[in-house]
Amino acid sequence: MIPYGRQDITQDDIDTVVDVLRSDYLTQGPKVPEFEKSIQDYCGVAHALAVNSATSALHVACLALNLGPGDEVWTSPITFVASANCARHCGANVEFVDIDPRTYNLSTEALEDKLKDRKNSGGTLPSIVIPVHFGGQSCDMVAIRALSDEFGFRIIEDASHAIGGRYRDKTIGSCRYSDITVFSFHPVKIVTTAEGGVATTENAALAQKMALLRNNGVTRDPALMTRPADGQWYYEQLVLGYNYRMTDIQAALGCSQMQRLDEKVSIRHQIANRYDAELAALPLVLPFREDFSYSAFHLYVVLLEEALASNRRAVFESLRERGIGVNVHYIPVHTQPYFRRLGFQTGDYPYAEDYYARALSIPLFPTLTREQQDEVIAALTSALS
Ligand SMILES: *Cc1c(COP(=O)(O)O)cnc(C)c1O
Repeated sequence: MIPYGRQDITQDDIDTVVDVLRSDYLTQGPKVPEFEKSIQDYCGVAHALAVNSATSALHVACLALNLGPGDEVWTSPITFVASANCARHCGANVEFVDIDPRTYNLSTEALEDKLKDRKNSGGTLPSIVIPVHFGGQSCDMVAIRALSDEFGFRIIEDASHAIGGRYRDKTIGSCRYSDITVFSFHPVKIVTTAEGGVATTENAALAQKMALLRNNGVTRDPALMTRPADGQWYYEQLVLGYNYRMTDIQAALGCSQMQRLDEKVSIRHQIANRYDAELAALPLVLPFREDFSYSAFHLYVVLLEEALASNRRAVFESLRERGIGVNVHYIPVHTQPYFRRLGFQTGDYPYAEDYYARALSIPLFPTLTREQQDEVIAALTSALS
């Protein structure tokens, strides 16, 4: 089976990890700061905090922005559940904003309408909006930032799909238009640490809060302590935190992977360009590309034309039978049983639901060979004829 996504591990990656296994530190050694520095330099951002997953990064990001009970977080229904769960972990409520049917990103028009409705009716405005850069293509951050200035919410970019991508003249992760940006390093993503995540920010106070929260609220920094140290062993717990630390084994893999980030994204573009050309005649909607975005191309999603929507399952199964590991990203989060129990219903976000009925993610990863691409193209062509 050709999977829809797969890690790309080189001998250099393996050697770097083995070196850590032979070193003094498996965790809390030099590799985590080195990995953080590589992300800072790449993104052109002041702070990068490595944690054990993007899910954890989203959680500490929300906590650092003081999210709590009574607050609302708004995000896209077409995302992985973690983008919404971070709010629930802080006791806050989730609301969704329907997607733009061209890009599958949260629609800035729908966001503006919903904000105005809430304001006019005296309802709750969001404390945080979490735009998700779906498939690696940036949301329209200038527009979202303008709304944040008008309506007073904070912004966390869920860039789990988007490291190596750009928005206008900025690298994703620069936080030019947001408070915090979060990356995932799960193996199917652009760069991997097996499990891992990073939160970037320009704000030193937010970085300091997130650093405490990932380490059980504990600090060894005398500048932060409430009283003089009893001795060199001394540390203080200042807040209630978690163990969300990344290991040096993971960070070493990340450092090595970061060196080939641009190359990985450029290969993803070459494959996407080939799909664009070879699939153009099929009854499919191919990925739309915004002028302002250079996508990281985490996903290549095709939509069956509307008339074929009822065949999606058959097309999916026929492709799987031919060894093409297609997948569906994502089941709209508001239709998950957990969110239904909170009151969401089918019909709440029609563009997201229409998208879900017709979407297929086809294989796209840097080591996908030309012959495998041929197989994908041939299988899709025959499944749709
Ligand atoms: C993968 C993913 C996450 C969660 O990432 P983990 O590192 O697995 O916790 C969050 N949001 C989106 C959009 C993702 O794709």
